Amino acid sequence: MLYMKRLTTVALVSVAASTLVLQGQQKPDRTPMNALAERYVKTVLAMGQHDPDYVDAYYGPAEWKTAADSAKIGLDSVASQARAIRADLAKLGPAQRGEMEQLRWQYLDRQLSAMEARIRMLRGERLSFDDESKALYDAVAPTYPTSHFQAIIDKLEQRFPGQGALAVRYDTWRKPFAIPRDKLDAVFQQAIAGCRDRTRKHISLPSSESFTLEYVTNKPWSGYNWYQGNFKSLIQVNTDLPIFIDRAIDLACHEGYPGHHVYNALLEKHLVRDRGWTEFTVYPLFSPQSLIAEGTANFGIEVAFPGHERSAYEKKVLFPAAGIDPARADEYYDVQGLVEQLSYAGNEAARGYLDGKMSAAEAANYLETYGLYSLERAKQRVRFIEKYRSYVINYNLGKDMVRQYIESRGGAASNPVRRWDEFEKLMASPRLPSTLK
Ligand SMILES: [Zn+2]
Repeated sequence: MLYMKRLTTVALVSVAASTLVLQGQQKPDRTPMNALAERYVKTVLAMGQHDPDYVDAYYGPAEWKTAADSAKIGLDSVASQARAIRADLAKLGPAQRGEMEQLRWQYLDRQLSAMEARIRMLRGERLSFDDESKALYDAVAPTYPTSHFQAIIDKLEQRFPGQGALAVRYDTWRKPFAIPRDKLDAVFQQAIAGCRDRTRKHISLPSSESFTLEYVTNKPWSGYNWYQGNFKSLIQVNTDLPIFIDRAIDLACHEGYPGHHVYNALLEKHLVRDRGWTEFTVYPLFSPQSLIAEGTANFGIEVAFPGHERSAYEKKVLFPAAGIDPARADEYYDVQGLVEQLSYAGNEAARGYLDGKMSAAEAANYLETYGLYSLERAKQRVRFIEKYRSYVINYNLGKDMVRQYIESRGGAASNPVRRWDEFEKLMASPRLPSTLK
């Protein structure tokens, strides 16, 4: 109920925002590519009628959304529209003028092929985990045997010796690092300020950009950015489970600066407003765009807080704000560094479960054993996997692919100016995951 109410609020705000956008910019030129982009947006909106999670953000002309809502065309028609746009794109050919135009063409074609795959899934076709992630997100996550995770688990066993499940011992040790509920907002505001300051030094953002922060419950995710257009986001943080101190910077960077909020604002500024590329006013969740969005949001944490800049800020600002002993920050991040190396265990649980090789209980158990999730958190994660399926790869594989791309272009941590520069360029261009080379 709360969920629906939120969505209604967001939809109303985005209608208002899109009116402003239209007032503030000229109508895009009627080029063949722009005409196809407009048909794509309308088709994505039509698809949203069949898949409530599909349209993650929309701030284009409000009348297109109204038309899609009232027409409510059938899934077969959505499929044939997508097919027809791709056929017309093929006639236009990928040999567009400059690099950005070529990226635009490839991107539109690939976003549409992902839509076709999602339509097949809605019709009941079952793809394997890897085929699904390839079709929807343009990437396949590597497979790791349990021995890979066991080697890291062994190190953690030495750190937390004792009886019973390691995840329980880890959870007990971790308890003092939870942010008390009454200090949550103060800690988040400080984390956001730190992320924003660092981002603004390197990326020039529209002066009117801002976001609203809300605390919500009963969600399968831990945080969400609902981009509303006009350089505004609504960011929601889920307080169902304890929020540990590291999540303040993680979420503030991931959802805000320089993550999703900045990513969407840059797309709106550079592609929608400056170039008139309407296709970027809509964000279909189950598409290659999500790997870039999640990958940049996660890698952005390291871009904003490289090396010990993060622990310095945590010790000086966030631990005290949360009432947690700053003298324990190094100890905390030493352990977190190891736990993070288990992140691909989440993909293995999802792959096993969605490929029918594990039951829901076995997947939760795998997450507990090899991902060090508490049982409650593992159950929340299984609910996430059920809803979002192979989307899980966008976080860790996305981050690794983005890192590899930025660093291969001279953006190593030792060269922060170049690192920020390449990071901004990637976020402001329509680059596909398979071209992150
Ligand atoms: Zn995200």
